[in-house]
Amino acid sequence: MPGPRRRTVRDLRRGNRAVVLRKLYFDGPLSRQELGPLTALSSGSISNVVAELVADGLLEEAGSVDSDGGRPRTLLRVAPGSGHVVGVDVGETRVRVELFDLALNELARADAPLPDGRRDGKYDAHDVVRLIARGLTQVIAGAGVAPETLIGVGIGVPGIVDASGPAGAVVHGQTIGWDAVPLEEMLRAPGELPPELPLFIDNGAKTLGRAEMWFGAGRGARNAVIALIGSGVGACVIADGVPYQGSSSSAGEWGHTVLQVGGRECRCGARGCLEAYVSAESLLERWREAGGTWTSPDEEGALAELLEDPATEGLLDETAEYLGAGIADLVNLFNPERIVVGGWAGLLLGPRLIEPVRRAAAAYALRHPFAQTTVELGRLGTDAVTVGAATLPLERFLETGGARRERIVSGAS
Ligand SMILES: [Zn+2]
Repeated sequence: MPGPRRRTVRDLRRGNRAVVLRKLYFDGPLSRQELGPLTALSSGSISNVVAELVADGLLEEAGSVDSDGGRPRTLLRVAPGSGHVVGVDVGETRVRVELFDLALNELARADAPLPDGRRDGKYDAHDVVRLIARGLTQVIAGAGVAPETLIGVGIGVPGIVDASGPAGAVVHGQTIGWDAVPLEEMLRAPGELPPELPLFIDNGAKTLGRAEMWFGAGRGARNAVIALIGSGVGACVIADGVPYQGSSSSAGEWGHTVLQVGGRECRCGARGCLEAYVSAESLLERWREAGGTWTSPDEEGALAELLEDPATEGLLDETAEYLGAGIADLVNLFNPERIVVGGWAGLLLGPRLIEPVRRAAAAYALRHPFAQTTVELGRLGTDAVTVGAATLPLERFLETGGARRERIVSGAS
């Protein structure tokens, strides 16, 4: 396809590196001989690219396989320890920072509760910035890795992320009281994160969606919706293999689609949103209104108590119907082949709710698109947001053929 500019030899080399690196990352280990047909590169190009990537320390040998009568073929894989990525989950009650190797094995973690929990449903962005910076220092020290091996930090936040302006990523978190918070600029302020460190900020539901698409229940699907149910409710719509963004990245705010006109008040200020019925916070609120009590200090413990109380049967059936109706809307709007329900509350409620949710979705959705869809539980644990956030710098790394951060920052991308 003709591009707006001519491809230089350097572009071509970087493109070849990216193709080989990506193939080995997702389908490795593979031999040089297998890489040829899988990448459509000549055996000469494969030899050159592999030699270069091995010299850069990005590939390593991973055993060998016999070939028919010939010499055994050496298998290659991306060296997990050749770089590190950090994923951050800015949750509604705590900030979690995790450091991974390139294979996304967790090497260190720092969890910090937000001071005083939430005040009037809002929290201070300066607290979040401080906890991210402190967590980053802790995980680097905890894993004992050299800071220069860090290829970037990905951050999932509970809000709409608009990175189109000159200030970088700005967060519109209406439900947490963040009105155009310049999070990227705040993280870049002197004394916070190292200035040269590549930062990637995205909505938490979208980072969860990325993780499920890369490693979990979404793998192999071209059209899918990953639903996040936690303190709030969000979704990541994957259309033809890529997250659907909309004109300013806010697409997928499924939690604030209206389930009941004039219904329960939602944290966003509107009435009757799906989130006002099925989020962990709303479910607990509905339980409280029905006379329910719990002893756990946090939402996760309280929701577990709700599930164990035999008096909540009716409340849970009603919640399954609301959630099923919301899923039917997703089916009718997007015609996905798969809907994955994740998020910490989604996973906790899943075993009890998934069957009635499927029945309700079948009853509310159009028959033909529903017949093409499966409704599944997420396969990744409650770390999925941090894992997904870490795939943001990792994807850039693979796309640029393993460019280290100094090359990314110097404008080579
Ligand atoms: Zn709402």
